[in-house]
Amino acid sequence: MTPLHFLLLSVTLILSSCQDLKSGGVLSVQNETLDASEIIAKVNANLTNTLIHGDVMPNLKRNADPCTAVGCKWPKTGSYVYVPVEITSDFTAQERDVIINALVSFHLSTCIRFVWRTTHVDYLRFFSGTGCWSYVGRQRNLQPISLQRNGCVYQNTVQHEVMHALGFHHEQVRSDRDSYVNILTQNIQPGMESNFKKVQTNNLGTPYDFNSVMHYPNYAFSKNGLPTITAKSNPKMVLGGAARMSSNDIARINRLYLCYDTLDAFHVIAKANSNITNTLIHGDIMPNLKRNADPCTALGCKWPKTGSYVYVPIAFTIDFTAEERDTIIKALLSFHQSTCIRFVWKSTEPDFLVFYSGNGCWSYLGRQQKLQPISLQKNGCVYMNTVQHEVLHALGLHHEQVRSDRDAYVTVNTQNIQTGMESNFMKVQTNNLGTPYDFNSVMHYPNNAFSKNGQPTITAKSNPDMVLGRATDMSSNDIARVNRLYQCCE
Ligand SMILES: [Zn+2]
Ligand SMILES: [Zn+2]
Repeated sequence: MTPLHFLLLSVTLILSSCQDLKSGGVLSVQNETLDASEIIAKVNANLTNTLIHGDVMPNLKRNADPCTAVGCKWPKTGSYVYVPVEITSDFTAQERDVIINALVSFHLSTCIRFVWRTTHVDYLRFFSGTGCWSYVGRQRNLQPISLQRNGCVYQNTVQHEVMHALGFHHEQVRSDRDSYVNILTQNIQPGMESNFKKVQTNNLGTPYDFNSVMHYPNYAFSKNGLPTITAKSNPKMVLGGAARMSSNDIARINRLYLCYDTLDAFHVIAKANSNITNTLIHGDIMPNLKRNADPCTALGCKWPKTGSYVYVPIAFTIDFTAEERDTIIKALLSFHQSTCIRFVWKSTEPDFLVFYSGNGCWSYLGRQQKLQPISLQKNGCVYMNTVQHEVLHALGLHHEQVRSDRDAYVTVNTQNIQTGMESNFMKVQTNNLGTPYDFNSVMHYPNNAFSKNGQPTITAKSNPDMVLGRATDMSSNDIARVNRLYQCCE
């Protein structure tokens, strides 16, 4: 476990042999407008004669995907597949970050773990060669991946080339492609026909995927501006537009490398939550495993304490910009400054928080099992106080205005509440930990929350004009609550 503040110190990551590459520090995500295949085709325009299938180096008599059955898979150690990497000094710090971010994207959805090469015999070396290209599957010894500067250093291109190195071929040469696409050979540039030759791939039970980051665009290697590949179901379908790995790409890696036991939870949860806002209770809290708010902390939803600290493993998806990540990290560090909570980058811990940009801002209450998402929708939720609020939920704390003793302090004006939203004001038998009701809590709703008519839904009994729910930071009571709940001061 690596404390967060340590990783914040530098952008350049210095790691020892079998330690994961961390997604720490301030990594920037370059905006991608071109799709991977388009970029690759453009950059490789002048060197395609020596490459087969566009950007795949002719390799040691191994022909694509089938090699994974005969030795070109990277070996698994325990639950993870460690792939040593090296990035040459060809790249700027920003370009390095793009590459690292693309590599870390595999960590977040698969059991692949890129580690810095030290004495490893077999490893990938990212360098700026001529064009973007990779071998298919693990080779032996130094295995280059070329990412030409000013052309190949994009998240989706790196993912594409890395997927080759993991053993994957282009989608449109899959063994079953003829059921899904037409190859219009009459439009292919002479000498480029081999790029469209089918391969006896192992498709791992995943469907043909027009959105795969491994799919070529409609006009790949066209000699006359007419399409070379069209979807059978819809010839006008735009192909090869993936900005990042598709869920099928991810599923394929997980199946090929048998990652499932540890990592499928994320996709199950993410899928299940895609239409979820109607089912949220109390506005932004996911209905959770029969645990009803605060009382769960007495029944196992507290995060465990090790020595003096409560280590909470976290991960980020690639949804956020460097600035947004910084905001989230700063909010997390605010807990380090005032409580015994210590957020650490997830490595092998089974229970952990994943921050991603979902539908709205929401969190589960208390520790759940395994992967526990916190949604911070971009352009709306990535603020210090919102992150603190959602994290406090994940630590087991409920909204202030549903506290067991709230009726002594606030009036809930049910006549002003939007129909169907009444449950957001239902009291919970919370454990208030001896802290007073706090109008300044970052967990307090504003006066007009869920109002149907502009009239207040919550007012302070002592002063109906009091402004509620405007905390820009955790209050001293919020902090005291965390410290008491987790016995930080003992
Ligand atoms: Zn390729
Ligand atoms: Zn909330």
